[in-house]
Amino acid sequence: MNQWTPKAEQIYDLILSLFGSAADPSKPVDFTALQQTAQLSQLEWEEALDYSAQVLSNLCNYKSFGATKFIPRCPPSTFHALVSASQQPAKAAALWELVKDDMYSLEPVPLLDIGKPSAGHLSNYYPNSQDISDLEINLVQAVCDAHQLSTLNTRLVKHSPTEFSLLIASVTDTLSPDVFPSSPLKSTSQPQLTIHLKPSDFSKPLNQVCAALVEAKKHSGSEIRAQMIDEYIKCFKEGDMGAHKAASKLWVKDVSPVVESYLGHIEAYVDPFALRAEWEGFTAIVNKDLSLKFEQLVNRAEHLVQCLPWGKPFEVDVFRRPDFTALEILNFATGGIPAGINIPNYFDVRESTGFKNVSLVNILSAKAPDEEITFIHPSERELYSQWDTRTFDLQVANHELLGHGSGKLLQENKDGSFNFDPKTTINPLTGKPVESWYKPGETYGSKFGVVASSMEECRAEAVALYLCSNIEILKIFGYEDPHDIETIQYMTFLLMARAGVRALEWYDPKTQKHGQAHMQARLGITKWMINHGLAQLEEVRAPETGTLEDAYIRVNKQMVLEKGKEIIGKLLVEMQIRKSIADGKGAEKFYNELTTPPSQVWEGELRDLVIRKKQARKIFVQPNTVLVPSVDAGSAPSTNHDGDQVHLIDYPTTNIGVIESFLNRNV
Ligand SMILES: [Zn+2]
Repeated sequence: MNQWTPKAEQIYDLILSLFGSAADPSKPVDFTALQQTAQLSQLEWEEALDYSAQVLSNLCNYKSFGATKFIPRCPPSTFHALVSASQQPAKAAALWELVKDDMYSLEPVPLLDIGKPSAGHLSNYYPNSQDISDLEINLVQAVCDAHQLSTLNTRLVKHSPTEFSLLIASVTDTLSPDVFPSSPLKSTSQPQLTIHLKPSDFSKPLNQVCAALVEAKKHSGSEIRAQMIDEYIKCFKEGDMGAHKAASKLWVKDVSPVVESYLGHIEAYVDPFALRAEWEGFTAIVNKDLSLKFEQLVNRAEHLVQCLPWGKPFEVDVFRRPDFTALEILNFATGGIPAGINIPNYFDVRESTGFKNVSLVNILSAKAPDEEITFIHPSERELYSQWDTRTFDLQVANHELLGHGSGKLLQENKDGSFNFDPKTTINPLTGKPVESWYKPGETYGSKFGVVASSMEECRAEAVALYLCSNIEILKIFGYEDPHDIETIQYMTFLLMARAGVRALEWYDPKTQKHGQAHMQARLGITKWMINHGLAQLEEVRAPETGTLEDAYIRVNKQMVLEKGKEIIGKLLVEMQIRKSIADGKGAEKFYNELTTPPSQVWEGELRDLVIRKKQARKIFVQPNTVLVPSVDAGSAPSTNHDGDQVHLIDYPTTNIGVIESFLNRNV
């Protein structure tokens, strides 16, 4: 939290002290009684709960996604009343005094964003150093780099233009000479910088983490995981990022465990210079049922990709088995839970040992209790809600496992040889032998530039549409009933078309740019479906004014069943062939045209409607686990006080549920 803003932790503590009971602060007070004692109207009460749940979920009073500040809707008097009515009034009042101005302040405006101090923005990676310049940050970095000192777990304080302190996250207050250069660091070139190395930043929470890891190690269940935990402990105790790298290697080597866990200073999104990482950690359980289906699919991938529409010369010679795991998140300690992750980030570990590509299933499929299924005709909403999760599972599997892994790049090797036969390989788009390919040193990224990542997502999404009627794949996923087989094909196309409409949220008509690679891809596929008669937009307009009130994307089921595969096959050939023959220019033209919204209505009124109907970003109510004594039938309860049975505590999906979950966590 304190990596974001100087007040984040105090606001967090204030909220927990308002709602925690005096006898046991990890237990909630009687919420109804608190509202009555504080004499709050229902609206004030709900607004206070809204703010509280948002702060806890973002671990900050800034949005984890977007990094802008939010303030309570209710006036300060509401929180003041809660402070007085709380069961820990002295503690709450002291915290309230510290944060009340900051919680509501909307000035100066630049401080409402997390960002570079040089632009007036806030970043507690540079505490008490609002005057630190970009150049100074980079100069210090150069000195650290020269000493091979990772700055991922650090913050930087400026004392003067030549004197700085590098705060290192660790439990201990002494630095091991085996790991760290001696302090202070001095730069060899002008300006002469002095950089003091100061350990024990965040020592209290890291000490708690280490204590929990010692407990976790007892249940690690394998030597490799025990070693990994030892490396984590070494990293957090001593501030040694080398140990974190070692832990990351062991994590990658630990193939297909039942419980996955990764933690530490990992992602550098919050630091405006991307030099310093945010501490986070998750525990997840592998979705065995889905993972088994993935495995069966990958086992048959070599054979399945042969049926893709571009033909053998454009298909990979050897299918590279992708790494892909479906996880159900049990707990994610972070301000914003992602839907998928590809870690570790250490480039050398990825090269030497590998990485894990992970889909967080229960984050992707989470629905708010009253979520409207937008842009789907009311008569189809029930069917949609019955089928969307499993349709999405099939789509993701085909996209990740067969989509990204398929299709060959035609290449000329350094010695002048080719991985294809230039004379006999016919380009299906021209009917003539191929005229271009990747020269030595050229890559897909270097040839396709701005369209590279989105077109690749489009190709993978289209592969998934193409394969949704494949009987062999459907059988793996348990679809053998003819009616189910028809339904899932239809639903796959319908889900795609709905995503294509919602993609307008990320499209900016002024710059004609898409802000998100996957959504651009989905809009492109939807336009292709519309142009080929698979889908159409049904507009609902006000009778008198003619304004667009609602819209439904309608997919022609009969057409999907009869022609869907063929139509998507054509799109796939357009993209794959250009990709295979390194035709970056041709691809850019084709792809930009494909992903330009289908009409003026889409760019204007429909986009406005999409933005009006945009769903609020979800906050997640996370469960907790506790150990309870096991009770065997017929025997006395275990005398072990902590117990040896894991019990899952779930909470209602409400603001109060969020608050209870954080209170019970007791951190
Ligand atoms: Zn993808």
